[in-house]
Amino acid sequence: MKYRWAAVIILVVALTGCMHGVGWPDREAAFAAIDERRAHEVIAVLASPVYEGRRSGTAGEALAAGWIASQFKDIGLSEAPGFTDYRTTYPSPLYTIEAFTGITARGTAGESFLGDRAQSAPYAGSGTVEAGAVLAGFGVTMDGYDEYAGLDVIGKVVFILRYSAPSRSVPEAQTYLAAKVSGAASRGAAGVIIVDMPSSPSPFDMEGQTVSALPGAPPSALVSVDGARSLFWAAGLSFDEVAAQAWAGGIVSRDLAMTVRFGVTADWNPEARAYNVAGVLAGRDPTRQVLICAHHDHLGTDRTGAVYPGADDDASGVAVMLEAARAMASAKGPPPVSIWFVSFSGEEEGLLGSAAFAAGTPGLASSLVGVLNLDMMRSTSGLGVAVDSSDERMMDAISRAIRDGASLAVIPWSGGSDHETFSRLDVPTCMVTAHGREVPWYHATTDTALDFPVSGLGTAVQDVLRVVWGLTGSL
Ligand SMILES: [Zn+2]
Repeated sequence: MKYRWAAVIILVVALTGCMHGVGWPDREAAFAAIDERRAHEVIAVLASPVYEGRRSGTAGEALAAGWIASQFKDIGLSEAPGFTDYRTTYPSPLYTIEAFTGITARGTAGESFLGDRAQSAPYAGSGTVEAGAVLAGFGVTMDGYDEYAGLDVIGKVVFILRYSAPSRSVPEAQTYLAAKVSGAASRGAAGVIIVDMPSSPSPFDMEGQTVSALPGAPPSALVSVDGARSLFWAAGLSFDEVAAQAWAGGIVSRDLAMTVRFGVTADWNPEARAYNVAGVLAGRDPTRQVLICAHHDHLGTDRTGAVYPGADDDASGVAVMLEAARAMASAKGPPPVSIWFVSFSGEEEGLLGSAAFAAGTPGLASSLVGVLNLDMMRSTSGLGVAVDSSDERMMDAISRAIRDGASLAVIPWSGGSDHETFSRLDVPTCMVTAHGREVPWYHATTDTALDFPVSGLGTAVQDVLRVVWGLTGSL
């Protein structure tokens, strides 16, 4: 009996050693190295006015990328192939909105003009549009609830309500302004007007016009509730009635029987460049990687010079990624596969940084074990992990992490951030993000580090480690 037990123990030790590597994951050392105050300081640094809102292609973004590179160096990470000083650069032509005409509407009931009750949208393209208008509700398309159904939007100006109907449980990604603009554009809209809601906890700021623009997007505008009342009046409609009906979950999509005209002038700097930053914790098998990513770019400044600090979006993801790198680098022994830590630029402009990274890294899809994207960590009640339930490998890693004590809530997969780039390559992906909360600071000047809670960041780092351990067979 004695010898048989000894043989079993030797076998277990041998198997454990072979699967996990000596020391790895070294949970005790890794968890002990986590410092949530340091993570919070990273958020405060990146959200500070020095970095001017970190808009992709600006001097502020280049400075932020340099600072993140200095952190990778300090942690002792090695460089990814093709990176110099932990950075690579790609062209990111910088579009800036120079002028907005205001909106003129001519309908069956009369004509209205919106000057300062409208402004260009942050995802506007350059150009002037004069066309018939349609209303597409909140612009949501999901099972059994399609606000575009039967609506002819080709060549039209599409009105879309801000947010979504509370009773409809719409995926958060469909409520973003960028998603609303691109959803209308992909259906052939010639212009997009996003209309604020009377129930809005933070009305559109009509003073501080956002200065970014997107090439290829149709001219797009934001309209205040007052402005919406005036435009809908021209079409013989009560905006408040339509908004209330939509908020209650009704379909309000229709032809608005009016002609709308407005224009956006965007200027661009074709020389602008953006930076991706990467550091590598080399594994025993360096030909395979787990990638932990976040994005350091944000929206920059508005025409009044006000900074969009982007503390939650996504300085917080970079902070948690850096702290995870410090924790894993503190563990004894190399991980079974390499762990790549990547901070992307160009997420806000349409996942351009991760696309440039994927295009510039040959053989990436076959060498990636999995991708964890960290986007918007601000929460006091635990984070969610957005995962496709048919992604068996990632589901298994997350189940193992949760059995191990991770406080992650599994939420439905949604794109709209950098993991989408890798999901298109058929790589197991997930997005760790806060969920089930109001986000009045989203893409606003109020997304600051000042009231960002420290508590929760340490748990976030632990949960990220657990998912990585789950992916590498170490749990
Ligand atoms: Zn964002």
